[in-house]
Amino acid sequence: MIVTLKKMKMDKRTFLKNSAILAFGGTVAASLPGGLASAVAKGSAAGEKYTLPDLDYAYDALEPYIDAMTMEIHHTKHHAGYTSKFNAALESAGLTDASINDLFQKISQQPVAIRNNGGGFYNHKVFWKCLSPKGGGKAGGDVGKAIDKSFGNFDKFMEQFSTAAAARFGSGWAWLVKTKDGLAVTSTPNQDNPLMDVADQQGYPLLAIDVWEHAYYLKYQNRRTDYIAAFWNVVNWDYVNERFNKTAK
Ligand code: MN
Repeated sequence: MIVTLKKMKMDKRTFLKNSAILAFGGTVAASLPGGLASAVAKGSAAGEKYTLPDLDYAYDALEPYIDAMTMEIHHTKHHAGYTSKFNAALESAGLTDASINDLFQKISQQPVAIRNNGGGFYNHKVFWKCLSPKGGGKAGGDVGKAIDKSFGNFDKFMEQFSTAAAARFGSGWAWLVKTKDGLAVTSTPNQDNPLMDVADQQGYPLLAIDVWEHAYYLKYQNRRTDYIAAFWNVVNWDYVNERFNKTAK
């Protein structure tokens, strides 16, 4: 690594910063030296720690379940907004070197702008990956088995998750999380998530649904339960399995 550092003429601070981004699963652009990184990272200013991730599918790929205009606005306006405000909040708090995990674990002690925008950045990043035009059906693999063990069967899990998503008052999220006791369903208000010390049920997020009105209002208006029912047709169980296996010790 020393040789690489010399070759790239990367100073220690930049190296540490980029390592932190990589450890979090940042973009390839983030791992490149300064000038090159900002040239590659679309839509983000030079030196920003977090960048808006690309989607793995087109905005219209989830039709008819989630419409193209909702997806485009949600990604390019809402998620982009959380990302740039998160970077700005980290900068102004002098916390650009902190890992997102450490921040979430002590979020009750952080400025509210970091809680709201850090959550918004992370939650949407997980959410996009939980969706796929080739998704839907029942959970398979290891997470399928863990769901049966914790909830009895897949239908009971679906019912519990859908209820949590429908019952969340106002804006927020519903989650399937891995805890030390198995899997659990929970929900969080605003942009909180189960990695945060303020969450009622803490755990590692495996599956997320965004139930803010901006996630469904153009197509479903007030019918949040129709949106939740449609969501099951596009759940990317391969990705949920990937997250589950990352935590399986
Ligand atoms: Mn959202």
